[in-house]
This record gives sequence, C-alpha cells and structure tokens, in this order.
Amino acid sequence: MDFRESDELAGHRAAARAWVEANVRPEWAEEQRRSGCHQTMELHERLARDGVLAAGWPAEYGGGDADPGYARAVFDECARAGLRCDGWATTSMVLHTILHVGTEEQKRRYLPGALRGEILIALGYSEPDSGSDVAAARTTAVRDGDAWVVDGQKMFTSTAQVCSHVFVLARTNPDAPKHAGLSLLLVPTDDPGFECRPIRTLGGQVTNATFYTGVRVPEAALIGEVDRGWNVMRIALVYERGVGGPASVDHAIAADLAAWARDARRPGGTTVLDDPLVAERIGRIAVEEEVSRLLGGWMDWHAAKGGVPGPEGAMRKLYWSESGRRHLADALDILGAEGLLAPGAPDAPAGGAFEHEFRAAAVTTVYGGASEVLRDIIAERRLGLPRSRPRVGPARPAGPA
Ligand SMILES: Cc1cc2nc3c(=O)[nH]c(=O)nc-3n(C[C@H](O)[C@H](O)[C@H](O)COP(=O)(O)OP(=O)(O)OC[C@H]3O[C@@H](n4cnc5c(N)ncnc54)[C@H](O)[C@@H]3O)c2cc1C
Repeated sequence: MDFRESDELAGHRAAARAWVEANVRPEWAEEQRRSGCHQTMELHERLARDGVLAAGWPAEYGGGDADPGYARAVFDECARAGLRCDGWATTSMVLHTILHVGTEEQKRRYLPGALRGEILIALGYSEPDSGSDVAAARTTAVRDGDAWVVDGQKMFTSTAQVCSHVFVLARTNPDAPKHAGLSLLLVPTDDPGFECRPIRTLGGQVTNATFYTGVRVPEAALIGEVDRGWNVMRIALVYERGVGGPASVDHAIAADLAAWARDARRPGGTTVLDDPLVAERIGRIAVEEEVSRLLGGWMDWHAAKGGVPGPEGAMRKLYWSESGRRHLADALDILGAEGLLAPGAPDAPAGGAFEHEFRAAAVTTVYGGASEVLRDIIAERRLGLPRSRPRVGPARPAGPA
C-alpha cells in the first residue's frame, strides 16, 4: 500500500481550498457556534449546486460527475474553516441504508432529492429512556389502512430543527421480543403532529427533543422490512461510526498547538516548543491523529468495495473520539490559563478553538455509541471474547455491528 498523497489528491485539496475560499462566508462558523446548529443551509445549497453532495452516488439515483475525492476534500476544508455539516452526515447515513435495503421506488424518491439538497434527514433513535439500549424504544407506528401513524418522543434528534425528515425507530409490533418488533420510517418534519424543542449541550451544540402526535406517513416511508428495523438501524450505525462519512470529524489539534507553542514564550524567554516534553506530547497527538485518519480511510475502502464492515466502525469511532478527548485535555494542560479563553475572547489561542473543542469532545464519546458499548462490540465481535453481561431475552437477529 502506498501512503503518499497522490498528485490527484493534492489537486483535489487545492481545488477544494479554492472552492471554500470562493463560497464559504467566514461568519458562518461563528453563526454555528452561536446558534449551536451544526448545519448551515446556505452552505448546503452551494454544495448541492456545485455537485459536491452528488459526488460518488449512483448516476441512476441522481449521482453526479464530481470526483468523491474532491467532495471529501471540500468537506475537510469546510471542517477546517470551523463548519460542521452534521445534517448532511446523518442524511448520507440514511441514504446508504436506503441503497442497501430500500425498494427501487424509495431509492428514486429519496436519493435524487437529497443529492439536490432538498431532503435532509435527522436520526430519531434515542428516547428519554433508551439511548444505549436503543431497542427499548417506546415510540409506536401503527398501521392504519395504507398508512402508518407514529406517536411518541425522541431525544437528541440533532439538526432536526433544519431537517425535512427524521429517520424514526418505532415499535411496530408490541407483542414481539424487544429487538424483533421495530421498524424505521422516514417522518416529514412539516407534519402538524411533529414538534421540535431545543436542548443545549455542554459542547455548545443545540440538539432537540422531538415529539410525534398522530403523524401519518405512507406505507412507502417504511425503510426495510417491517419489524426488522433492528438490522436496518445497525447498517445505518455502521455508517455513523465511520464509513464514508462526508465530513472529517477528526480533530486537527497538533498543528494548531504546534503553531501556538512555536510563538508563545515562557518567563525565561524560551518558546513553549523548546520544552522537549511539550514537543513530545504534540508529536504523540500528531501520530494519533494520523492513525484516526487512516482508520477513516480503512472504512472508506470497505465502503468502496460495497461491504458493510462490522466492528471496524466501532473501532474507528472509539479511537477518534477517545483520542480526541485526550488530545484536548493535553492541549489545555500545555496552554495553561490561556487555554481557557473562549471563542470571542481577545488573544484566545486559535481563536478560542481549544476551549470550545474541549467541551465539544466530551460528548463525542457518547453519541453514535457510548465508548463502553463500543468496547463491548469490539471485545465480542472482533476478539471473540465472551459477553461481559448476561443476555436478557432471546438472541438478537444477526447483523453487521
Ligand atoms: C450531542 C449529542 C447528539 C446526539 N445526537 C443524536 C441523534 O442525532 N440521534 C439520536 O437518535 N441520538 C442522538 N444522541 C443520543 C446518543 O446516541 C445517546 O446519548 C447514547 O446512545 C447514550 O445513551 P444515553 O444518553 O441514554 O445514555 P445511557 O445509555 O443511559 O448511558 C449512560 C452511561 O452508561 C453506560 N452504559 C450504558 N449501557 C451500557 C452497557 N451495556 N455496558 C456498559 N456501559 C453501558 C454508557 O456508556 C454511559 O456511560 C446524541 C447524544 C448527544 C450527547
């Protein structure tokens, strides 16, 4: 395997930088921080207009000519400019899932609209009493003629405030065992029975509690087989944990920290970077960031081959979130009091990014599978170790992760 950046990739990066320079307004990153909404619709429209969203998707469902490597570089450059595209990240997870299990009609209905930027999908799995144990969902979908009627509440439905749909995990068979009576439905957020209330989190992100009262959706909104939603959701979760994600969620702390340490002076006049212990810590962060990036490449390779990796997704998600949190704690330790200067404070290192990212990193080890749960998946499915806790009820249906 050749790990050098190819000329093609370098070209994509240069083109992506030029795209971001021409299209991204600097105030958008500040607006995301202020509003806590990690999805900027004006940016999304431009990504759709220039075919970045459509890159790499099958042509028969609206995929475009732009090179996926270029699209990835654009998302990376957006992330570098402080812009998250979480709504698109969740949408692409659902689109991948539809490609795996959806009907031909669903592929033709949802993919082209999403790639044109008109359909944006939030994930509605968690509930007030079911997060890690997501199969305990109580939201129901009841068949009524040729429709489904959805009632219940979801927690942490991130970016639902700007999304057109929520991918809702609902109980369709209350008499079946816990994991066997679930289904996934695409619920439109413009239905009068849908309500969205904001929840501000430690990292500044505003996620949502969403409520569903008698929301009617057509039969065709049910993705995958009825009552087999557990397996459908597990495909989507694999994508959430690192396969083919459109935007890099990896941190890039080493470079920012090194830049600060090169200039910052200690009382004796030496720079912070002159301290070999500081240099060693920054070096270790750089190495771990690279491992994180390569694990992302590993996921992309799986996806490009059409596979659905199992515990590898858990490994990638566990690694980047846990190492990222450690790196930010290291960064604050090296920065000292200056590291506590928040965005907006004069002279805050890297514009206050360290303080903000430190808070944000705390929740990355919770969403998309809490670290303890991911360790269990790796132990059981990758290493073949025995379950750490007794199974309650009948065995779960087989699935990828
Ligand atoms: C910022 C943010 C955004 C989110 N966005 C979304 C979203 O868009 N859509 C969505 O559906 N959900 C979303 N979530 C919810 C997220 O997936 C859940 O928070 C997560 O699954 C954990 O569930 P919980 O909060 O109920 O905690 P719990 O499941 O109650 O876990 C609490 C603690 O117990 C531990 N624990 C639980 N079960 C086990 C076990 N079996 N073995 C060992 N330890 C265990 C956990 O690791 C954790 O430390 C988001 C959460 C956050 C914080």
